[in-house]
Amino acid sequence: MTPSTPSSPTSLRGNAAGVLSTLADLRATDSPTHGGEILSYVYDSGIAELDALVANAAELVRPVNGLDPTVFGSVAALERDLIAFTRTVFGDPTAVGSVTSGGTESCILAVKAARDHAGVHPGTGSIVLPSTAHAAFDKAARLLGATPIRVPVDPSKSQVTAAAMAAALRDDTFLIVASAPDYPTGGLDPIGELGALALMHDLPLHVDACLGGFVLPWWPEPLPEWDLRVPGVTSLSADFHKYGYAPKGASIILHTDRDRHRAGYFATTDWPGYPIVNPTLLGSRTASGLAAAWAITQYLGHEGFRDLVADIYRATGPLRAVVEEIDGLRLVGSPIGPVFAVAADPESASPVDPHRWAGAVAEAGFTLQAQPRFTQTDGTDLPSSTHLTVTPVTAAVVDRLVETMRTAADAVRGMPAADPPAALADLAGALNDGVLSVDDALAIGSEATEQVLIGAGIDPRVAPGDASDSLDMAAVVAAIETLPRPVTAKMLTEFLAAFTNPG
Ligand SMILES: *Cc1c(COP(=O)(O)O)cnc(C)c1O
Repeated sequence: MTPSTPSSPTSLRGNAAGVLSTLADLRATDSPTHGGEILSYVYDSGIAELDALVANAAELVRPVNGLDPTVFGSVAALERDLIAFTRTVFGDPTAVGSVTSGGTESCILAVKAARDHAGVHPGTGSIVLPSTAHAAFDKAARLLGATPIRVPVDPSKSQVTAAAMAAALRDDTFLIVASAPDYPTGGLDPIGELGALALMHDLPLHVDACLGGFVLPWWPEPLPEWDLRVPGVTSLSADFHKYGYAPKGASIILHTDRDRHRAGYFATTDWPGYPIVNPTLLGSRTASGLAAAWAITQYLGHEGFRDLVADIYRATGPLRAVVEEIDGLRLVGSPIGPVFAVAADPESASPVDPHRWAGAVAEAGFTLQAQPRFTQTDGTDLPSSTHLTVTPVTAAVVDRLVETMRTAADAVRGMPAADPPAALADLAGALNDGVLSVDDALAIGSEATEQVLIGAGIDPRVAPGDASDSLDMAAVVAAIETLPRPVTAKMLTEFLAAFTNPG
C-alpha cells in the first residue's frame, strides 16, 4: 500500500483567506439555496434579516456542547423556550419533549420511546403506518429491530382508512404512526379516527408533523384537527429545519406523557466515565440548530409564522390550479397544505410523463423532485410523480413557475416515459428471467456494483459540482421502477459512497 497523499492542502496551509475562497468556489457550484428555484430540500423564508439573525445566533453558541446543559445552561434555557412555544402551537400546554437534530432523529425517538415505554423487548414488536409515512420509520424499525407494517392507502385519494389500519394491528404492535401531512403526496391522515383507534387498543399514536408542523397551525383554510389536541395522539414531531427556517440540524419531539418522553432517553452510569444522560441519539451535540430555531421563534412569533404561511398559501393555490388545468397532468391524492405531487393523468388522451416534464421544467431553471412509482402491499400503485414543496419565497416566482409548468407540459406531452439505461434494463431482464437471483445481485461487491453504474452511464466519479447536470433523472427513476427495490437501494448506496469518496 502506498501512503495516501492529501490532494491539495499544502498550497492552502496557513492561508485562511485561500481556504475560505476555495470553500466559496465549491459553494458556487451548488444549486441555489435561495430565491425559490429549488422546490425541495431548502425552505427559504425570503427574509434576509432572518437569515442574518440565524447565522449570528448559531455562531454565538458554536463552541457549546449540548451534551451537558448543566454545564452550558443556555442549552436548557433555549430548550425550555422552544418546548413552551411548540406545546402551545400544537395544543397541549403540558406536553414535554426534546430538541433533536432533525426529522429522522425525532421519528426514531418516537419509536424508541413507544417501545421502551411499553416494555417491548428489543428486536421484537411492530409499528403500523400508512404507505405514505416517511421512510424514517423504516429506518427506525430497522435500527430497533421492529417490524414496520405499511398499510395501503386508497390510490385515488392517497388516504388510509382507520379500518385498514385497525385490520393491520397485531398483538405485538406498540405504535401507530400518522402524517400531517405525508411527504410524498401532501395528504393529511385521518388523525381523529386514528386517535380513536389508538385509544380503543390502548396504543400510542405518533403524528409525524416534521413537514407540516410549522405551516398547518397557521394555514388559512379550515383543516380537520391533527395535533396534540386530538384524543389518542401521544407524540408529535416537527422540523425547525423545514418550515421553521432553521439551518439543517433542528427538530422537536413532543410527548403528552412524561414517562413516555423519559423512555426515549438513554442513560447509564455503568461504565468508568462520566454519567451519560442522552435525550436524543447523539452524545456531544451542537447547540447551533437549537439557538437558530430559538432565535427564529422569538423573532417571528405567531404573527410572523402566520404571515409567512400566508405567502406560502398564496403561491400554493395557483400552482395546484395550473396542474389541474394542464391537459395530461393531475395532482396525486388530496393535498391539504404546501406540498403536493404531480403525476400523468391516465384519463387524458395525451398524458404528460412527470419526469420528462420535470426535466423540461429544469431547463427553465426550476428544480423539482422525482418520486418513483410505489407498489403497495395490496398490489395497487401510487404513481410515478414529481414533488413540489412550496415555501414563502415561491410567492416571488410563482408567475414564472406557472408559465414554465405550462410550457414544459406542452414540450413533452405525449412522449413516453424514459427508458432505464441499457445496462440496468439488461440487469432487470436477467433478474426477471431468473438468470440471476435478487440474492445474487445483492451479493455483488462494491467495486463490481460501481462498474455496473459506470456501464449504465451513472458515473459516481463525476466532478462533485456536475452531478445534478450529468444525471438523467428520468432514466434513473425508470431504473428504480424496473429493478427490485433492494437492488436499487444497493446501487444508490454505491453511487453516493463512491461520489463522496476520493477516487
Ligand atoms: C423530512 C421529513 C422527515 C425526515 O426528516 P429529516 O429532517 O430529513 O431527517 C420525516 N417525516 C416527514 C413527513 C418529513 O417531511
